[in-house]
Amino acid sequence: MARYTGPVCRRCRRAGMKLYLKGLRCETAKCALEKQWRNKPPGMHFWRRRRQSEYGVRLREKQKLRWYYGVLEKQFRRFFEEASRTKGSTGERLLVLMERRLDNVVYRLGFAPSRSGARQLVNHGHVLVNGRRTDIGSMKVNTGDVIQIRDAQRSRALVRGYSEAEEDRIVPQWLEVDTEQFRGEVKALPTRDDVSIQINEQLIVEFCSR
Ligand code: SF4
Repeated sequence: MARYTGPVCRRCRRAGMKLYLKGLRCETAKCALEKQWRNKPPGMHFWRRRRQSEYGVRLREKQKLRWYYGVLEKQFRRFFEEASRTKGSTGERLLVLMERRLDNVVYRLGFAPSRSGARQLVNHGHVLVNGRRTDIGSMKVNTGDVIQIRDAQRSRALVRGYSEAEEDRIVPQWLEVDTEQFRGEVKALPTRDDVSIQINEQLIVEFCSR
């Protein structure tokens, strides 16, 4: 599966906000945005750039969402098409669809330090959904789905380390976690309010509907 392998802090610097792409490091003083000399857009001549056009503002908003959930353009477009086919606000539907991704849910349950770490757990077969092994990080979860870490020493040792380090992670209300059993359940589908990134989804819809 194709994935971005370049420097991730650069993305936060470009977005001008923390996207939490590096797990525990993002909460420490080592975060690039916490350092005065690095808290600026990437590139040598950033101060020479002109004001952003309307197109640029919309593009940046779309990129922010894509980077936050770690999806490539093609997959993002698929999510957008699905959101525009369903009833209701396309922007809100898009955010909810992204939030329902299995890799995001594994991350939100505290089983992985970052969304990319969660995707790796899924891809490597450490995660079961309703008792069945899956390696599709983009799979959408539904109400009542049970997400569990495989009952294998290696899988659980891996996750135990993350869970202990992330003890104070707040699990959203639409999910329920049992860390002893390495198990989580989807109690309800997420809503717009459950999406924690500060984003203007209307700008994304305007960009994608051009
Ligand atoms: Fe972004 Fe995390 Fe890097 Fe900070 S440490 S710039 S939040 S990826």
